[in-house]
Amino acid sequence: MKAQIDTLPHVMFGGLTHDPAIELGRKLVGLLPGGLDRIFYCDSGSVSVEVAMKMAVQYQIATGHTEKVEFATIRGGYHGDTWKAMSVCDPVNGMHGLFRGAVQIQHFLPRPPVQISHDWPEDARDNGLAALSKLLIDKGHKIAALILEPVVQGAGGMYFYHPQYLKEAKALCEAHDVLLIFDEIATGFGRTGALFASDLADTTPDIICLGKALTGGHISFAATVTSRKIADGIGNSEAGVFMHGPTYMANPLACAAGVASLSLIETGNWKTQTAAIETQLTAELAPARALPGVRDVRVLGAIGVIEMEEWVDPSVAHNAAITTGVWLRPFAHNIYCMPPFVTPPDEVSRVSAAMVQLAKGAP
Ligand SMILES: *Cc1c(COP(=O)(O)O)cnc(C)c1O
Repeated sequence: MKAQIDTLPHVMFGGLTHDPAIELGRKLVGLLPGGLDRIFYCDSGSVSVEVAMKMAVQYQIATGHTEKVEFATIRGGYHGDTWKAMSVCDPVNGMHGLFRGAVQIQHFLPRPPVQISHDWPEDARDNGLAALSKLLIDKGHKIAALILEPVVQGAGGMYFYHPQYLKEAKALCEAHDVLLIFDEIATGFGRTGALFASDLADTTPDIICLGKALTGGHISFAATVTSRKIADGIGNSEAGVFMHGPTYMANPLACAAGVASLSLIETGNWKTQTAAIETQLTAELAPARALPGVRDVRVLGAIGVIEMEEWVDPSVAHNAAITTGVWLRPFAHNIYCMPPFVTPPDEVSRVSAAMVQLAKGAP
């Protein structure tokens, strides 16, 4: 980013390109599942969700499905704070209540009930797919896409569900000309122990949203990536192009940060790092399971969660931060951590000890 600022800090991306955008694009296509190779660079995660939803609608209209303008999603999700993204956030925990009447009501399905907790259950057949199937039969002709966070729902509740759901959801969506959008803004680039959470399900969506780790946390940036089929469908629309063009699209500084971050991902070290963090968090958070007020303890990749029966009082968390020197930011029932992959073992231990400590003080 320092070198880039002296060369080209910014240029409007309409009608031209630049080296960091090209290099980042090559890296992304190399890392993403095959078939996802049409990239739209956005300013933030929320915007990438807006872009994904807009792509889905523009594609549906362009291919003659003019009624397909609504969205389906599962409860407990979080997709960002802009209007369309808000509409697919959990209707209870999200902001639907606060902005009642102003947030569009989408089609909400139950959360896939089969969780990944201490063990991955072998059989996930009864995983809420009947509800999806029924929705698509009844309303599929009005639905542009199903959007969800694959396997790990983040800010909506740190909930881990069985990947089998995604595989079967994809088949159901295909049968009803409903696109599948994976929001991997939180899960992308190794966080779950797989490069993408969709890899856990061996399922490629039609559109994927990437953000957060894309720049290693250095600058707001995101990407919405789709297939040639969807991009060509949009290209053949009345407009001829995808109708979105933010001023800071593909900002070269952000692209340079992305290139640097993905170069680290390309080394493959994330794999051993997340596996080690997973092993350590699993061992060190396990004692919390026996504490009063603890509902569940779960770990996946470099994500550790202690779920409490009650909401965690933020003031208790503030005081715990002062005594332990570890700033945890619990939300709702969850005390969680998502440490950087380079966190050394002694620091992971410090974080997990602080989590257990907070769980002791929270009830
Ligand atoms: C953080 C997040 C977003 C929103 O990204 P911003 O960059 O904060 O706008 C959307 N979806 C998921 C799953 C996220 O974790």
